[in-house]
Amino acid sequence: MWRETYAKIDLTCLAHNVRALKSCLAPNVKLMATVKANAYGHGAVAISLKVLEVGADQLAVATVEEAVQLRDAGITTDILVYGALPIEAADAVVSHHIMQTVFTLSDCFALSQAAKARGERCRVHVKIDTGMNRLGVKDDEEAVALFTMIHDDPWLDLVGAYTHFTSSDEPLCDLALSETERQRQRFIDMISLIKAKGIAIPVLHASSSAGLLRDARYHFDMVRPGISLYGYHPSPYFGQDVDLRPVLSLETHIVRLHSIAPGEAVSYGRTFIATKMERIATLPIGYADGVPRGLSNVGSVSIRGVKAPIVGRVCMDQMMVLVTDIPDVQVGDKALLYGGDVGSGFSLTDAAQQLDTITYELLCRISDRVKRVYSQ
Ligand SMILES: *Cc1c(COP(=O)(O)O)cnc(C)c1O
Repeated sequence: MWRETYAKIDLTCLAHNVRALKSCLAPNVKLMATVKANAYGHGAVAISLKVLEVGADQLAVATVEEAVQLRDAGITTDILVYGALPIEAADAVVSHHIMQTVFTLSDCFALSQAAKARGERCRVHVKIDTGMNRLGVKDDEEAVALFTMIHDDPWLDLVGAYTHFTSSDEPLCDLALSETERQRQRFIDMISLIKAKGIAIPVLHASSSAGLLRDARYHFDMVRPGISLYGYHPSPYFGQDVDLRPVLSLETHIVRLHSIAPGEAVSYGRTFIATKMERIATLPIGYADGVPRGLSNVGSVSIRGVKAPIVGRVCMDQMMVLVTDIPDVQVGDKALLYGGDVGSGFSLTDAAQQLDTITYELLCRISDRVKRVYSQ
């Protein structure tokens, strides 16, 4: 690796976050670490190994492919796939001992067939749709039929049932007015209906990071945090007392430094025009690395601890920043993106606000071209 552009991943911060989140949970509540989308860009295998080492109980991913990647890396812990089952993946689910989300009879039929063919049971979690309108069984009758089929099938093991909140990051409010509370009630009602049919459901779960931090009433038997593991609060309205430390920062180094005269412009389309003599630093990182082009003339990086605004358009592989006011700046100096404190102008949270998006999206955008460098 010659280009000095890295995503630095601090596993000590990750371990700290796991412990901080666990301290919010009753001792019997399990923590399922969400490591989908390459662990939100942090590297699924390295992150999985670390969270398991420091106390996470299980893992969750979005796709069967992601689960297989973890199995291929030698990880034997329970892994749940959140996404819908592609019928063709049923055999891979069984052979890799993956737990699959199900919500239709045909999901269950496919997994049962695959399990029978291999002579091994398949473990499933039923997703209940309480208002997200994304995945899940929604209707009482359909739910009874689904749970009954799983219960009666010798090749299927009902491990759990879960739901997902639409708005658990919203401000805390009167429970009677809370959509999260309405979803919780709907979930409990559905579960009671199934239990009344004599079907036991070992593990109930509902909360991502926001539900986890919101209130223990949403924890049930297990929680499924993602973003909070990586050091970001899912909501500005609560949970700020839980100390979370960003795990990732992007680092690159100045490859060119030069001065421009008043009237000269920087980058494509001449969107930044100097009004005085300015000093410009070129950085070998661009939108192909995951720095959104929307940060053009909007975002900032940190050089020698000083904020350096991005000037002109972010290019595919490079971008320019203003360093006029940074004393002693030199070629080779480190430039930090997505690091630093919230409000510094160059933290990931600040960038997400500037772009009217969420921290999640910016993390996931960091491309494969950026080398991940881990520190313990
Ligand atoms: C992504 C996801 C999570 C984790 O969400 P965070 O907001 O990152 O904590 C939990 N549950 C499901 C079903 C998800 O899809």
